[in-house]
Amino acid sequence: MSYFRQVSIREDPDELLNPENHHSTPWGGPDHGRCDKCGGSGEVRHRCLSCLELERPDPDCEACGGRAEWTDVCPTCEGDGEITRTRRRGVSVFPTAAGLRRYLADREVDPEGCAIVEVEGPVSDDRDLDADSGALLIFPREVVAVHPLELPNPR
Ligand SMILES: [Zn+2]
Ligand SMILES: [Zn+2]
Repeated sequence: MSYFRQVSIREDPDELLNPENHHSTPWGGPDHGRCDKCGGSGEVRHRCLSCLELERPDPDCEACGGRAEWTDVCPTCEGDGEITRTRRRGVSVFPTAAGLRRYLADREVDPEGCAIVEVEGPVSDDRDLDADSGALLIFPREVVAVHPLELPNPR
């Protein structure tokens, strides 16, 4: 089982194997305070971008188990409507490259100077801040490959 993540081509992908880098922090957005993702309600619609890019959801998907779209506890505030814990154990990844590409395209990320790194390693028991997009946290043990980053058009 391998996982996919965006990296800068100037970074050494092997740095992902360093346990000192095995945590994740927010990418834009406020660090603390009222949760902008769920508006303070503590629940949010989850959409597994990896499965939504498939013709039908994958029942073995590690992010959603084949649910693809469902409502669950907000991963950013963990249900209390206030963001208090933004440092998570593990490195953010997607279970498919297509899911990662969709995530980046929807955020209008400029792919210039970036690549996709494919990694393997055990899944963290912590939840990614963007678990509602089908992101997972893992502890990378091996870099399998580096792929070019080409993005689909934003929806
Ligand atoms: Zn899924
Ligand atoms: Zn929230």
